[in-house]
Amino acid sequence: MTQSDPRVLLDVEDVCKWFPIKGWPFGPKRYVQAVNHVSFHLYEGETLGLVGESGCGKTTLARTVLRLIEPTQGSIQFDDVDLMAQSKRQLRAMRKDMQIVFQDPYSSLHPRMTVRQIIEEPMRIRGLYTEPGAREARVKELLQMVGLNETHMDRYPHEFSGGQRQRIVIARALATQPKLIICDEPVSALDVSVRAQILNLLQDLQQQLGLTYLFISHDLSVVEHICDRVAIMYLGQMVELGSNEAIFRHPLHPYTKALLSAAPRVGQFGRRDRIILEGDIPSPADPPSGCRFRTRCPYAAECCAQEPKWVEAEPGHFIFCHRFQELDMAAPA
Ligand code: SF4
Repeated sequence: MTQSDPRVLLDVEDVCKWFPIKGWPFGPKRYVQAVNHVSFHLYEGETLGLVGESGCGKTTLARTVLRLIEPTQGSIQFDDVDLMAQSKRQLRAMRKDMQIVFQDPYSSLHPRMTVRQIIEEPMRIRGLYTEPGAREARVKELLQMVGLNETHMDRYPHEFSGGQRQRIVIARALATQPKLIICDEPVSALDVSVRAQILNLLQDLQQQLGLTYLFISHDLSVVEHICDRVAIMYLGQMVELGSNEAIFRHPLHPYTKALLSAAPRVGQFGRRDRIILEGDIPSPADPPSGCRFRTRCPYAAECCAQEPKWVEAEPGHFIFCHRFQELDMAAPA
């Protein structure tokens, strides 16, 4: 992200996604609180990382903010348009500006469609590039942009390696000239040797096309490499949000510190301490009251029975913890 381009592309305020638990005959209705009161914004041209353990609500949040899943509550502005006020038809028209690259390039490409058909499909659905020959020209251009070429157009997905398939997925996502791409663990199904190539491709495309990424990952080294800012999620809530530098060099939330300490090759924190978290993540159907992390937090105190407030600890660095100041002061230099 450049300092001169701070326009907000996506503004998410107090979004919740609760799924009702079916077949619960007793007492009040129960819900899985997959996403709970999450607010953040995404600047045009930046990459915001969304990090947390599996099941913490990252993917549900990403789909909810695009209204691929209906939010239970909250407000979402995309490109100065109130997404919550859009009809299904209006939303469909807006989808060309927001695309998703999924984790598994093996299952996200139709095995009986050629590369040409796969990349043309979003143009056909949105009614784009209708002049004769325009779609074919666009397919060729996109293949070149992702490091493939026109000789690949009439082949099928099974003829490609995992890295090449993910390039095809990226070409398909770019077909409609989107402004925002949600990258949902885009390299975690790939061999380590090709991960860096795909990450570099995503960075090159961002520079070339001015793309904005919401980058979901549980791999902190990938997030440290590619993201401008990072948001940490725990049990459906955002617990810390800050610049790459702030999160990896000066984490404040006990959960962020524990995550970093378990990945010793990233940031500075893991080189000093190893924090072992006791117990499993509680169920989002029955989360702890107060701070959701308090059943596993080594620093939990009486005050943690109350829900913390979202505090800006330093400019642009937000934290959801009662005790971060005293814990920060107590940390070794
Ligand atoms: Fe730990 Fe309390 Fe902070 Fe929650 S509010 S992270 S329990 S110290």
